[in-house]
Amino acid sequence: MPDPVTLASHALPPDPHKLPPAGEWFAPDAERHLLDRPKFCPMCGESLERGLTSEWWTANERVFLTWCAACRWTGNVVRFDKAIIEEPEH
Ligand SMILES: [Zn+2]
Repeated sequence: MPDPVTLASHALPPDPHKLPPAGEWFAPDAERHLLDRPKFCPMCGESLERGLTSEWWTANERVFLTWCAACRWTGNVVRFDKAIIEEPEH
């Protein structure tokens, strides 16, 4: 029988990003959110683990309201599949 110290050293820490049960209607969206959300602040580059990222959708765009605990930047990060960009003549 393994001693309790050996078992404790292999125990995983609690998951801070717990997913809902797989059968819930929003489970696939929750999973995509964890995979696709911004991981680093677009302003200072620090990890957003201590910040806030909330997601909503506008048509086909996924909008991540983001707050950075390191520099206090707040803004939207938008994921999209295609972009139409107009470039002025020069
Ligand atoms: Zn920042």
